[in-house]
Amino acid sequence: NSDYAMYQAKKMGRNTFYFYSERELGSINPLSIEMDLHSALERNELELHYQPKVSLKTGEVVGVEALMRWNHPKWGMVSPATFIPIAEESGLIVSVGEWALRTACLQNKRLSSQGYEIVMSVNLSPRQFNKINLVQTIENILKETELQPQLLELEITESMTTNIEQTIGTLHELKSLGVKISIDDFGTGFSSLNYLKQFPVDTLKIDQSFVRELSNKDDETIVKTIISMAHNLNLNVVAEGIETKEQVEFLKQHLCNEGQGYFFSKPVPEVELMGNIQQIQENPAKLGVTVEPIQ
Ligand code: C2E
Ligand code: MG
Ligand code: MG
Ligand code: MG
Repeated sequence: NSDYAMYQAKKMGRNTFYFYSERELGSINPLSIEMDLHSALERNELELHYQPKVSLKTGEVVGVEALMRWNHPKWGMVSPATFIPIAEESGLIVSVGEWALRTACLQNKRLSSQGYEIVMSVNLSPRQFNKINLVQTIENILKETELQPQLLELEITESMTTNIEQTIGTLHELKSLGVKISIDDFGTGFSSLNYLKQFPVDTLKIDQSFVRELSNKDDETIVKTIISMAHNLNLNVVAEGIETKEQVEFLKQHLCNEGQGYFFSKPVPEVELMGNIQQIQENPAKLGVTVEPIQ
């Protein structure tokens, strides 16, 4: 869609050359995205889609990540890569993010009452993470939805950490609620290993940019290094963006715990989630039995 393409080009910044046609210029106003987003919640235009996380050892679905989608009346499905930054800048992320947390917890409560004990991951953006009442909000949502805290995981990124002491404090408070915490897009931020050691987190998620280029020796080294570092720090490690069998085999061989990506499943709407989990579960052969982990 050209509106959308133009919006993406604009988002890339002033140094990007892009030729706008008269028609295109007339048809979009980035401010209108913000205005529309304002009412998106009330109009029920937001949805969560769910992408499974699979144990590379057993082939079981051990978790699901909730990813926000906006079904815009004019533009159709808008990617969170587009609207989350706008929501973040305008402060709307707080209400939108709270909606996502509550919806994801309700969904996981439904799964757990049907016998699926899996961890539901929800992404937090910096503004949400630094909001003074975050811990209270999450505690309330857990109470309301009656979800066991250990079945909720919060995905944060290295860019949350503008004030290290405060970040460590918040992480400890969140951990004391009983929820899990993972560092998303790991390897793309700039946090020092010294901080990492002090963060009470459970999991590192290797950024998909490294997983995508596993045929590249440098990225291969980075992935191996992150896996062994995670294990040395007693952390679980997940690879995101897995698309091929070769990537699975490499990751299995280097004892990466879990994987997520189109190879297993794209993010799916709520109605497809249960069937999707069953399908992956029933087809462990997809993981292959040829690669024996190195002991
Ligand atoms: P993320 O948390 O790192 O999510 C991973 C992104 O990679 C998702 O994009 C997912 O659909 C995509 N992906 C998964 N597997 C593959 C694969 O095999 N190949 C490729 N090419 N892509 C894959 P999506 O859904 O567009 O989300 C983009 C980002 O938007 C997320 O990155 C996250 O940072 C943010 N986001 C999404 N939902 C929320 C939310 O509810 N709250 C907040 N604060 N941020 C969100
Ligand atoms: Mg994530
Ligand atoms: Mg990520
Ligand atoms: Mg990301």
